[in-house]
Amino acid sequence: MNELLDYIEQKKHDETRQGEPLNIALNETEFKNNKHFYIESYGCAMNFSDSEIVASILSKQGYSLTPNIFDADLVLINTCSIREKAEQTVRQRLRSFNEIKEQKPGMLIGMLGCMAERLKSNLLEEEKLVDLVVGPDAYRSLPALIQEAEGGDRAVNVLLSREETYADISPVRLDKNGITAFISIMRGCDNMCSFCVVPFTRGRERSRNPETIVEEAKDLFEKGYREVTLLGQNVDSFKWKGEGKNDDKQAEVLVNFAQLLEKVALVNPLLRVRFSTSHPKDITDEVLHTIAKYNNICSYIHLPVQSGSSSCLERMNRTYDRDWYKNRVDAIRRIIPDCGISSDIIAGFCEETEEEHQDTLSMMDYAQYDYSYMFFYSERPGTLAARKYKDDMSLDIKKRRLAEIVDKQYQLSLESNLRDIGKTYEVLIEKISKKSEEEYCGRNSQNKMIIFPKGNYKIGDYVQVYIESANKATLKGRVVNEII
Ligand code: SF4
Repeated sequence: MNELLDYIEQKKHDETRQGEPLNIALNETEFKNNKHFYIESYGCAMNFSDSEIVASILSKQGYSLTPNIFDADLVLINTCSIREKAEQTVRQRLRSFNEIKEQKPGMLIGMLGCMAERLKSNLLEEEKLVDLVVGPDAYRSLPALIQEAEGGDRAVNVLLSREETYADISPVRLDKNGITAFISIMRGCDNMCSFCVVPFTRGRERSRNPETIVEEAKDLFEKGYREVTLLGQNVDSFKWKGEGKNDDKQAEVLVNFAQLLEKVALVNPLLRVRFSTSHPKDITDEVLHTIAKYNNICSYIHLPVQSGSSSCLERMNRTYDRDWYKNRVDAIRRIIPDCGISSDIIAGFCEETEEEHQDTLSMMDYAQYDYSYMFFYSERPGTLAARKYKDDMSLDIKKRRLAEIVDKQYQLSLESNLRDIGKTYEVLIEKISKKSEEEYCGRNSQNKMIIFPKGNYKIGDYVQVYIESANKATLKGRVVNEII
C-alpha cells in the first residue's frame, strides 16, 4: 500500500511540475509495485471466474500476474470443497508451495474460495499452511489482508454477503484463447441439497444487475471474444429487481433468466451464449423458447439429475422427483429438438438401494445424456446429509455403482457421437488441437468438441464442419465452407 501512496505523491509532484490540474487518474496497468502474484484455480467455472475478479483487484494494487511461482511475492490458491478429494489436492499443493517459501521467506501464501470459507481460521491456527484466508465474498478486502500479512499478522476474512456480486469490477481475463469467457451473473445458492456445501461456502443467492452483465458481454465482444458462458450455481433462479431501463426510461424492472438470456443474445448474433448450471426444479419453458428463438444461444443444457430415483432425490432434498425431471427432458426435446443435454450424477448416496441405483441407470437411458460428471458420494461436514444420514454405502458398492454409471455414460456418449457422422455443424474455432499442430478444435452449439484440419482459418472464425468420424469423447471432420 505505501508504494501506491509514494507513487501518487510522485505523480502529484510531476503534475505540478508540468502545471497540469491535480486530477490523479490511475488505470490498472499504470501503477506497478513490482510485485508479482501467482494464482491456481480449482473446482467449478465459478472459481475460475472469481480468480479473474481477484486478478483485477490485485492489478489495481499494482501487482502483475506471473505464470512462474518462483517469481511470485504472493501465491494464491482458489479452492474447491465439493468433495474430500478436492481438499486433499489443495493440501498437497500447499505443502509444495511452503517448500518453495522456505527458499523465499517474504513470499505470502493465501487460500481463496470454498475450502477457505469452510475451514476459516482453522487453516491459520491448526494447519499453518497459509498466511491469509479469504472467502468468496471477501475479495475486495484482499489488499488490506495482504498488508496485515506483510506486517506478520495472520489475516482472515470469510464474511459472507447478501449483496456482493462484484458487478463493478471488470475481470482480468486469465483464459488463454481470447475467444471464450465466463460472466458470473449471480452468486450463492438458496437450495439446500443435502449433500452440498455450496450454500455454506458461497452464501445466499443474489443476482447481478443485468445492465452490468450486458455491458460486460459487449466489452468482451469488442475485445474479440465470440462466446460467453453465463455462470451461476442455479441460473434458472436469476431474478433482478431494481432500477433499470424500460423503453429507455428509468423504471423499476424485474428481469428473470429468460429475459437476461435474450438481452445477452441481442448483443451481437456473432456472440455465442452458453450458461451453467441449470436446476430441474426451476428451468422454465420460457427459457427453452428463448433458446429456440436465437441461433446464437447454444442448444445445450447442463441439467444435473444427481439420482434417477424419487426416494433418493427426496433424501438429497433436490425438490423434484423422477417424473418432474423426465417432464423437463421431454420439454427440452420438444422445444429444442437438437439440444445437447449433460448431467451430474452421484453414485452410492446414503441408504441407496440397488433398485434406486437401477432407477439412475434407466434415467440415463431416458435422458440420453451426451456426457455427465459422475462421482460417488463424498460426505461433507456440516451438510444436511452428514447431520441426518449415515454414509452407509461401502466403498466397494460406491465404486461398483459408479463404474456401472460411467460405463452406461460412455456407451451413451459414443452412440450420440456416432449419430453425428454425416452431419455438418457450425463450429467456433477455439484453439489448436492438443493432438496435432495441423488441427484446430472447437465446439458445436451442442457443446461437443470437434477436431478438423486448420486450413487457412484462424482462431475465432466460425466454420461449417462435416463430421467424418467419432469416438466417445470427440468428433472429427473437415471444413466444408466458412460461414464468416
Ligand atoms: S443447487 Fe444444490 S447442488 Fe447446486 S449448488 Fe445449490 S445446493 Fe449445491
